[in-house]
Amino acid sequence: MQTPTTTPRDINPTEDGTALRIVWEDGHESVYLPFDLRMSCPCAGCVDEGSGRRTLTEAMVAPNVYPTAIHYVGRYALQFVWSDGHDTGFYSFDLLRGLCGCEECEMPGPPRRSSQ
Ligand SMILES: [Zn+2]
Ligand SMILES: [Zn+2]
Repeated sequence: MQTPTTTPRDINPTEDGTALRIVWEDGHESVYLPFDLRMSCPCAGCVDEGSGRRTLTEAMVAPNVYPTAIHYVGRYALQFVWSDGHDTGFYSFDLLRGLCGCEECEMPGPPRRSSQ
């Protein structure tokens, strides 16, 4: 199901071109580093389907990896074509929103300090 939270309004590189910014329908802005996105690839080549464990390691990804193309997959996901030729991952908007690393999203629940 699509909600404003998981509907991108705008997908563009950041001004300096080093990251990807998604502005969501609810006004939230997420900025993603290409390397982090590549490491989060959800395809069967990067995640073991049985165990759900990530088989992709940081050593397998070039630090300067970048998307050469970004395609919409229907209305629910993006497909990145990476500079290393990898293009089998469909990043659902749900997943992308969940990957947002901003302060607000990093902090689950009401803002309170926890010691974990
Ligand atoms: Zn993958
Ligand atoms: Zn966020």
